[in-house]
Amino acid sequence: MKIQLIFNPHAGRGRGMKAYPEIRKRLQEAGHDVIPHRTIYRFHATEIVKSLNLYETDVILSVGGDGTLFEVINGLMNNPGKKIPPLGVIPVGTGNSFVKDLKIFNMDDGIKAVNRNISRPVDVISFTTENSLYYFVNNLGFGFVADVSVTSEPMKKRGLGMTAYAMGVLVEISRLKSHKLVLEIDGTTYEHDSNFCYLCNSIWVAGNMMISPESIVDDGEMEIIVLNSISRKELLKTFPKVFKGTHLSHPNVIEYRGKHVKATTIPEKFCNPEGEIFGVTPLEAKVLPSALQFCTLE
Ligand SMILES: [Mg+2]
Repeated sequence: MKIQLIFNPHAGRGRGMKAYPEIRKRLQEAGHDVIPHRTIYRFHATEIVKSLNLYETDVILSVGGDGTLFEVINGLMNNPGKKIPPLGVIPVGTGNSFVKDLKIFNMDDGIKAVNRNISRPVDVISFTTENSLYYFVNNLGFGFVADVSVTSEPMKKRGLGMTAYAMGVLVEISRLKSHKLVLEIDGTTYEHDSNFCYLCNSIWVAGNMMISPESIVDDGEMEIIVLNSISRKELLKTFPKVFKGTHLSHPNVIEYRGKHVKATTIPEKFCNPEGEIFGVTPLEAKVLPSALQFCTLE
């Protein structure tokens, strides 16, 4: 197979760079024609994938974390080619949330999934922010959860990984403030005094938190998880439940399901699609059923 391999050398604090030679070697040994592309700057992967000739490609391979996958998906969805080849993911990032739903947990799984040459459909969610259109497959949060990303990003860059995230959570709990949220889901309007909201296509977020345990990646719908205004003490107590997905039974957690969502907040809030700090509210999101195929072990 002809594989366009997009790799982010900075993914997972340098794990991308370390893993790349072995990944390339193992794919070549399996008989594949591997064309590598190394990303240098933010959204470079989007530019690379957008300009690939997809008619001459059997697999697009994202070697990195959730951020690299976000860039690759946005390149694929903006590629002028009509034929979209299956997307493989070799998770070497910090988070690697989305591919867990495809039963891909490490580098070996990612390579196996490509070699297996079986793909499955995955819904893509398009979203509009500041008059531009983007895409995600994992989830998009805004409010407290995106503020945690903003706060932990400088610590993450200094190599603190998941510790940075935990510290970000503590800092943001200390300055917790609710905001007004208006959601329009498939034509019905809901108002909340909210701390955060997540639009979810898949189960996991930030690597090991089950933000949306009931999400299915190809059912044509997204889950909308809202946390209604909560005290600092209660949030601190409830937060660990997200690691097991048991937070859904908390009275302040509301779950909706839908295909077309408009979300407005007062004041405006940062968004974090696929864990990236990117975009602001208001936003509009739509499910594009089975818009991509992913290499899978499932
Ligand atoms: Mg779904």
